[in-house]
Amino acid sequence: MAITEPTEAALQNAVRALHDGDLIAFPTETVYGLGAAALQPKAVARIFEAKKRPLTDPLICHVATVEHVFALTRSFSDIARILADTFWPGPLTLVLNKHARVPDIVTAGFPTVAIRVPEHPVATALLTEWDGPLAAPSANPFGRTSPTTAAHVEEQLREQVELILDGGPCRIGVESTIVDVSSPAAPRLLRPGGVAVEAIEAILGYPLDIPQADTLHSASPGRMRHHYAPRTPLYITSSSQAQHSGRVGRLAFTKADCAEFAAVEILSPTGDLREAAHRLFGALRQLDSSHVDVIEAEAVPEHGLGRAIMDRLRRAATSSK
Ligand code: AMP
Ligand code: MG
Repeated sequence: MAITEPTEAALQNAVRALHDGDLIAFPTETVYGLGAAALQPKAVARIFEAKKRPLTDPLICHVATVEHVFALTRSFSDIARILADTFWPGPLTLVLNKHARVPDIVTAGFPTVAIRVPEHPVATALLTEWDGPLAAPSANPFGRTSPTTAAHVEEQLREQVELILDGGPCRIGVESTIVDVSSPAAPRLLRPGGVAVEAIEAILGYPLDIPQADTLHSASPGRMRHHYAPRTPLYITSSSQAQHSGRVGRLAFTKADCAEFAAVEILSPTGDLREAAHRLFGALRQLDSSHVDVIEAEAVPEHGLGRAIMDRLRRAATSSK
């Protein structure tokens, strides 16, 4: 395994590894992805093995341009077209009816496939060189905190990847927003993420269908209750005082009383939810490695990217307070 600058030679090595059915890690604007040749079922199987991810949890296909999408889908509705034109390349994943050529292992047997055109220049260069779809979940063991730097990937998946393309820290820092546009019904929000729900609704001119937690699991099996978790127990709190005894780590939104906590990470001193999302997973890792007994995370306002942040915190939490 090597961490490498994304030079032309490195991109060619990555493409060669992908042809051989190996796994590579690459940067996107959301988080680092663990990529395999999406149309090679054996290569895709290695993603599930490497992450210890259940085969019931479908993967997102990444492509360079919208033209590549047509080879993977049976239909592309007007609504899909409007969302793609507005938000691609970018942190929006669309769930569409799948073409027979997409292997069942990618979609966990679903008749639909999740697809995204990322906007990170290294992802674009890699996908252009590859000239096809890459199945790519986040490059971390299943259920754990997602990686937003090449070093995070190396810490957790060193043995499993052929190479890691280093594109620096991810700009957005939380995963893509997933919207199901596979049926004629209103588009459904399956996961809040890097594109704000408000921005999608402004383009549509009407609200997204937002399923309740119990129906969400059958619509989108990977939306497990527990995910993104640090090793240290994490609680969400609205209090500015420590609620637990022992060494308490604080994940604060804008400020924290440093005397009160053994370790403090502040997501955005100016209260900028984009900056907070960008820092979220790195801050969680930092607190997780600072020998605290418990992490208390402050709730953030639930609009814009705050919705994605709270979704991740609730899933990372041992329980809420
Ligand atoms: P990630 O783990 O970030 O790659 O995101 C994958 C998630 O996308 C899965 O856990 C599912 O929740 C969702 N997903 C992928 N494919 C589908 C699909 N065909 N239908 C519904 N949800 C999907
Ligand atoms: Mg993930």
